[in-house]
Amino acid sequence: MSGIYEQAIEKFGIESQMKKTVEELTELSLAIQHYSQEKSSSNNICEELADVWIMGQQMAKIFGEDRVEEWKLKKIERLKRLVAEL
Ligand SMILES: [Mg+2]
Repeated sequence: MSGIYEQAIEKFGIESQMKKTVEELTELSLAIQHYSQEKSSSNNICEELADVWIMGQQMAKIFGEDRVEEWKLKKIERLKRLVAEL
Protein backbone atom coordinates (compact mmCIF):
# COMPACT_ATOMS: atom_id res chain seq x y z
CA MET A 1 0.00 0.00 0.00
CA SER A 2 1.47 3.30 -1.06
CA GLY A 3 1.36 6.42 1.08
CA ILE A 4 -1.12 9.29 0.84
CA TYR A 5 1.13 11.37 -1.48
CA GLU A 6 1.50 8.54 -4.00
CA GLN A 7 -2.24 7.92 -3.79
CA ALA A 8 -3.01 11.59 -4.50
CA ILE A 9 -0.65 11.61 -7.51
CA GLU A 10 -2.21 8.37 -8.77
CA LYS A 11 -5.78 9.68 -8.33
CA PHE A 12 -5.42 13.25 -9.67
CA GLY A 13 -2.42 12.88 -12.00
CA ILE A 14 0.96 14.61 -12.19
CA GLU A 15 -0.25 17.52 -14.34
CA SER A 16 -3.06 18.35 -11.90
CA GLN A 17 -0.78 18.13 -8.84
CA MET A 18 1.74 20.43 -10.50
CA LYS A 19 -1.02 22.99 -11.13
CA LYS A 20 -2.22 22.59 -7.54
CA THR A 21 1.33 23.24 -6.29
CA VAL A 22 1.50 26.51 -8.23
CA GLU A 23 -1.88 27.53 -6.76
CA GLU A 24 -0.77 26.74 -3.21
CA LEU A 25 2.52 28.62 -3.70
CA THR A 26 0.53 31.63 -4.87
CA GLU A 27 -1.77 31.41 -1.82
CA LEU A 28 1.25 31.25 0.52
CA SER A 29 2.88 34.15 -1.26
CA LEU A 30 -0.28 36.25 -0.88
CA ALA A 31 -0.73 35.26 2.78
CA ILE A 32 2.81 36.42 3.56
CA GLN A 33 2.39 39.65 1.58
CA HIS A 34 -0.97 40.34 3.25
CA TYR A 35 0.45 39.58 6.69
CA SER A 36 3.01 42.34 6.36
CA GLN A 37 0.15 44.67 5.35
CA GLU A 38 -1.85 43.38 8.36
CA LYS A 39 -4.50 41.87 6.05
CA SER A 40 -3.91 38.23 7.02
CA SER A 41 -3.14 36.31 10.21
CA SER A 42 -0.20 34.16 11.26
CA ASN A 43 -2.70 31.27 11.32
CA ASN A 44 -3.41 31.86 7.63
CA ILE A 45 0.32 31.69 6.89
CA CYS A 46 0.58 28.42 8.85
CA GLU A 47 -2.36 26.97 6.91
CA GLU A 48 -0.83 27.90 3.56
CA LEU A 49 2.60 26.64 4.64
CA ALA A 50 0.98 23.28 5.42
CA ASP A 51 -0.61 23.22 1.93
CA VAL A 52 2.72 24.05 0.29
CA TRP A 53 4.54 21.47 2.41
CA ILE A 54 2.05 18.76 1.39
CA MET A 55 2.35 19.68 -2.30
CA GLY A 56 6.14 19.88 -1.94
CA GLN A 57 6.18 16.31 -0.68
CA GLN A 58 4.24 15.25 -3.76
CA MET A 59 6.58 17.17 -6.07
CA ALA A 60 9.53 15.41 -4.40
CA LYS A 61 7.85 12.03 -5.05
CA ILE A 62 7.40 13.00 -8.72
CA PHE A 63 10.82 14.54 -9.37
CA GLY A 64 12.96 12.44 -7.01
CA GLU A 65 13.18 12.55 -3.24
CA ASP A 66 16.89 11.68 -3.29
CA ARG A 67 17.66 14.59 -5.61
CA VAL A 68 15.62 16.97 -3.42
CA GLU A 69 17.47 15.68 -0.35
CA GLU A 70 20.82 16.28 -2.08
CA TRP A 71 19.83 19.85 -2.96
CA LYS A 72 18.53 20.42 0.56
CA LEU A 73 21.89 19.44 2.06
CA LYS A 74 23.74 21.70 -0.40
CA LYS A 75 21.41 24.63 0.35
CA ILE A 76 21.74 24.15 4.12
CA GLU A 77 25.55 24.12 3.78
CA ARG A 78 25.33 27.33 1.74
CA LEU A 79 23.07 28.90 4.40
CA LYS A 80 25.55 27.91 7.12
CA ARG A 81 28.36 29.64 5.19
CA LEU A 82 26.24 32.77 4.72
CA VAL A 83 25.31 32.89 8.40
CA ALA A 84 28.95 32.37 9.42
CA GLU A 85 29.98 35.34 7.21
CA LEU A 86 27.76 37.78 9.11
MG1 LIG B 1 -4.11 26.83 0.30
